[in-house]
Amino acid sequence: MSIADNVRRVREQISEAASRSGRKASDITLVAVTKSFPPEVMLEGYAAGLRHFGENRVQEAENQIRSTQASTPQAHWHLIGHLQRNKAKAAVEWFSLIHSVDSLRVAQAISQHCLALGKRLPVLLEVNISGEATKSGFGLTRDRAAFWRDAESIVALSSSKGGIQPLGLMTVAPYSANAEDARPVFAALRALRDELAARFGGAAAWPALSMGMSGDFVVAIEEGATFVRIGTALFGERTAKH
Ligand SMILES: *Cc1c(COP(=O)(O)O)cnc(C)c1O
Repeated sequence: MSIADNVRRVREQISEAASRSGRKASDITLVAVTKSFPPEVMLEGYAAGLRHFGENRVQEAENQIRSTQASTPQAHWHLIGHLQRNKAKAAVEWFSLIHSVDSLRVAQAISQHCLALGKRLPVLLEVNISGEATKSGFGLTRDRAAFWRDAESIVALSSSKGGIQPLGLMTVAPYSANAEDARPVFAALRALRDELAARFGGAAAWPALSMGMSGDFVVAIEEGATFVRIGTALFGERTAKH
């Protein structure tokens, strides 16, 4: 199977899952995760029509972008992995959406660099729904009140002058061979988004839900995903551990 074949098959699965749940396929953005793959793989994906690309580390993304940008003018890059505060400036420069804001401090760092650059940058708050110790993201299992305090502070950072613009939530479901196991995790993220919308600004202010990977994106779309982050199903198995 070529990358172009994989793109076609994944897009078909996205369309089928969308129509099964009464949604439009155009409301779901396919983010192709190129981490650990060489630039040629990204270029092949771009030639097959992909326009949104995800990387989980700033430095690797920067290399990937520098070596492909001359021939990929319509590519948008998404940061999907944990961001260290000392990389916030580079992240603001290189990415058009950060999915993985996992603390108030990192949100403040992003906001500060956005304001300095006169830029407005949409972000998602990553939530560790399952409470697995190995996962990053805002926790909910121990202290839900802390999440709400931080969410309120992050909302307060967004201003008409620019800065950070929170648009929704992101999660990574625990690994399982059975995609159905992820359904309650995705449903919980959606319910949390609805609660955020009720408290801060309404549904239109919180349109985005980034959830679903190669093994579980169909279930995620049925539960309301607007971004799916897919690597393996498009590009094959990764050799390096990421
Ligand atoms: C690697 C990664 C993906 C893609 O995973 P696949 O199973 O290869 O589709 C999605 N989201 C995040 C946060 C990742 O790190």
